Amino acid sequence: MDKRTFIKLSGMAGAGLVAAPLVSGLIGCGNAPVDPGTPAAENAATTGFTLPELGYAHDALEPAIDRQTMKIHHERHHAGYVRKLNAALEGHAMGGMSLEALLAGLGPDDTGLRNNGGGHFNHALFWKVLTPSSEPSQPSGVLADRITASFGNQETLLTALSQAAGSRFGSGWAWLVQDESQPNRLFVCSTANQDNPLMKGVVDTHLQGRPLLGIDVWEHAYYLNYQNRRTDYVAAVLDRINWSEVAALMA
Ligand code: MN
Repeated sequence: MDKRTFIKLSGMAGAGLVAAPLVSGLIGCGNAPVDPGTPAAENAATTGFTLPELGYAHDALEPAIDRQTMKIHHERHHAGYVRKLNAALEGHAMGGMSLEALLAGLGPDDTGLRNNGGGHFNHALFWKVLTPSSEPSQPSGVLADRITASFGNQETLLTALSQAAGSRFGSGWAWLVQDESQPNRLFVCSTANQDNPLMKGVVDTHLQGRPLLGIDVWEHAYYLNYQNRRTDYVAAVLDRINWSEVAALMA
């Protein structure tokens, strides 16, 4: 998509930097497949968002992330966010919006949408950017160029992500984000709870942009296997990043 088309689409969406592929590829909207392993009751909402499939087996990320953690995280935590998001949208004026537009438009007091819409988006992104391959993936092409321009080198980016994840007090996420107004500029930040850089009405301006990579640092993401060793979990996750998926999420 060229820049003019992108700007036009963004304007139509009324929500800034939220054009495809974030919308189409990532989020289980309506017709997305439902994980057959998920209890039916958790997907019983009549309309709205559905739990996207992982795209790999629960044990595919071992030893970085263990099977039981993945299963509980996807089938209970993520499914719970989807279910509660759909419940919060019943009769709500934001019903029918894309998830990205909804996140960009909500305010800090829209608690149900903020927590559960964020929870849905963040986890869908997380599953997408992890790879079951034991072959180390490396950024290439435009993404590699932008990493070099923004951080100097890949190692500095990984250190920044590790520090953002490690220094987040309590629950939250560490992010690699693309600047909305300067697409060549990438930056690292962290947000609390299920907030994310799409939430213009919630997070500070310097945190806002297009999320390319998110690392879940809630204890539910690692505690079974790592207990309090968040740093070890983050290091293992950074070895499992699917950089071609990250690149595909860039505008
Ligand atoms: Mn989580």
